[in-house]
Amino acid sequence: MNNKSRLIGFTCAYTPLAIIKAAGYIPYRVLPVGEAPDLAGSLLHDNLCPHVKRVLDRAFAKDFPDLAGMVFVNSCDSMRRLADAWQIVRPDEQVIRLDLPATVDDDSVFFFAKEIETFANTLSDMNGQPLGQEQIRSAIVLYDELSATMKRLKAVTNSGANIGGRSAIQKFYNRASTEPVEHLIEELKQIIEEPKSTKLDGEYVPVFLFGNVLPDPEAFSFFESCGALIVEDDLCTGSRLFNSTEMDLDWAKDIFIQLARNILSQPPCARTFDPKNPDKMVQDLLYKAKRCKAKGVIGYTLKFCDPYLARLPAVREAFRKAGVPLLLLEGDCTLRSIGQHQTRIEAFIEMMG
Ligand code: SF4
Repeated sequence: MNNKSRLIGFTCAYTPLAIIKAAGYIPYRVLPVGEAPDLAGSLLHDNLCPHVKRVLDRAFAKDFPDLAGMVFVNSCDSMRRLADAWQIVRPDEQVIRLDLPATVDDDSVFFFAKEIETFANTLSDMNGQPLGQEQIRSAIVLYDELSATMKRLKAVTNSGANIGGRSAIQKFYNRASTEPVEHLIEELKQIIEEPKSTKLDGEYVPVFLFGNVLPDPEAFSFFESCGALIVEDDLCTGSRLFNSTEMDLDWAKDIFIQLARNILSQPPCARTFDPKNPDKMVQDLLYKAKRCKAKGVIGYTLKFCDPYLARLPAVREAFRKAGVPLLLLEGDCTLRSIGQHQTRIEAFIEMMG
């Protein structure tokens, strides 16, 4: 196993980053970016989600630093396939599997707490260092501070300050999931304190963007070039990773249960289901679209993503009933795949302008 690296790789927004930090490692999100040659097809079926395939392409191409280990959250079958393939392509990296419940009730919280505790013990064994409550609590406080600072940055941007458009925020999201966060938090605070005053040139229609994987900052500049300003997002490579509510840590209670509840209560992706309220995801999207005063909503989801494909008909019907303009785009997490929709996006924006 590769014991020199301080990086623990991950792919899913449900990964407990504070545990990786507390164990003395740096969370490193292997994002589906770059131009790695398409080699994933040698191990994975072509009709598998492009997120998983592009991450495996990068693994083949070795175009990211060596990892001490790679944690795979069991978000869907595609991710399980990726975990299996990873052991073949990068045998020197410890593969860690974290099971993730599909619901958010108490049984799920207790189950996930056990998974997180096992994850913490695995990292502690890998590092050969004991992992105590104190380290976990200070790591949780640090990531809470990062989430709060990211929210403030977005608020400053939506109030008209120009920090470089929505693509700049995406660059910060990508950095926050691949770099040590202490310096980044200080850098963000400085930008928030001294934002550039000049507004973005041009007229934009405020749009709410939801979906799953879209880490390319240029994608947001592209939306702006079509006249759409993304004022809020619900993406797993966007705000969903840093949108958890601040934890009110109770010293008397089990830290893993508190962390499990906090992570499972973050804005859900399509694979998370509330049996008591099956329409919760749709209601959440409608509420967020209204809260950010968006004139329209764009849904960007990956082809072959079963969790989202299963939920989109209900989303489409609910938005039609609510009279909220909705444009659904399918892509492969690349700018190219969005470029193909330019005419549809421009027509959608014009309709609301
Ligand atoms: S994008 Fe969809 S199919 Fe792909 S890993 Fe995420 S949840 Fe699974």
